[in-house]
Amino acid sequence: MRKSKKNILFKLLISAAAISLAVYLNRDNFKFPGWNNIEPTVKTAGMNQMNLYKDPENKITEMKDSTEKTDPVKLHFDALVADTHNDFLWQVYDKGADLNKRNSFTQSDIYKFREGGLDIQVFAVWIPMKKVKTSYDFTISQIDRLREFQTLSNGQFEIAGNYDDIIRITGEKKLCGLIGIEGGTAVENDAENVKRFFDMGVRYIGLTWNNSNLIATSAKDAVLNGKKGGLTEFGKEVVKKMNGTGMLIDVSHLSEAAFWDVIEISTQPIIASHSNCYSIDPHYRNLTDEQIKAIAKGNGYIGINFYDEFLAPDGKKNGADIEKIIEHIDHIKETAGIDFIGIGSDFDGGISPPRDLRDATQYPELTKRLFEKGYSPDEIRKILGLNFLRVFKQVCG
Ligand SMILES: [Zn+2]
Repeated sequence: MRKSKKNILFKLLISAAAISLAVYLNRDNFKFPGWNNIEPTVKTAGMNQMNLYKDPENKITEMKDSTEKTDPVKLHFDALVADTHNDFLWQVYDKGADLNKRNSFTQSDIYKFREGGLDIQVFAVWIPMKKVKTSYDFTISQIDRLREFQTLSNGQFEIAGNYDDIIRITGEKKLCGLIGIEGGTAVENDAENVKRFFDMGVRYIGLTWNNSNLIATSAKDAVLNGKKGGLTEFGKEVVKKMNGTGMLIDVSHLSEAAFWDVIEISTQPIIASHSNCYSIDPHYRNLTDEQIKAIAKGNGYIGINFYDEFLAPDGKKNGADIEKIIEHIDHIKETAGIDFIGIGSDFDGGISPPRDLRDATQYPELTKRLFEKGYSPDEIRKILGLNFLRVFKQVCG
């Protein structure tokens, strides 16, 4: 009896020592149950070479690690991953979401971004119809919320203003944020507001959302409501102001007539931050082959949207899977080339994503599928982030 008690005590001591040692050795990643701070990083794959691989300038010459050729997960976590459209800020306003916490009701937050290997997120400020009359002020209040998250992030999240910032912030293994505006109503009736927003850190403005505004007619109004017109005179002034300021022009949600006006006027590459291919899914939110070619001709960028309704004609009814995203990527590659494709998930913008890509933790699944489809590591790195960075650097500096 006495002997077995001793045995149990001995085993308990050994177990306690083993646990302490495990915690010590893995102290950077160890999480106590209920621990609510942000872990330093969950990116362990390829950690040693991360800075090297994540430096886009070195992407080709230094890519010597043969394991990346056989391991898409390693490739994913080594690559710079950027998503050019996310509506988390709306979830903050509407439901009190917290970027620095794990939210049960959102498709993204800092934990999910980290688990999904995401490095750069453009946070879009979306303006609800009830705020249209005070768009400018509402936009500023949403930007302030994002900056507040930076302050409270314990050094885990930082908003970038230029390309060098992005490289530094991602090199420091923080989540890098960028600010976009979804809807030119934010500019109200003063083109000088473009510069004011730029000074606040905004780097793209979608000229319209679903509602038309003083700048242009939206795709929804043109197609569903028969509204005519492209860019207004004021819209042309805004486009010129954006070109002169280093503000990216986002044509997602824009009517075709306005799109072609932008193509005619803009002296800079343009982006469609979250749009897909019309020839696969003929939805007014998607781009025709002519539009895709025009964006590519101007050296621009298209971020693939994960919303099943924009992925497949029957997507709203039957859902979609990652295979559909790959189809859109294939199509842009065939139509215009590999250099113009990226990710613009639209997470937390009220979308229902593919069943095998439910939230931001699952970005690696996309890389796996691209890999299986025969995309090379260099092509995958372009899609995951380098294409957007190229355009961002050219336009925003
Ligand atoms: Zn949108």
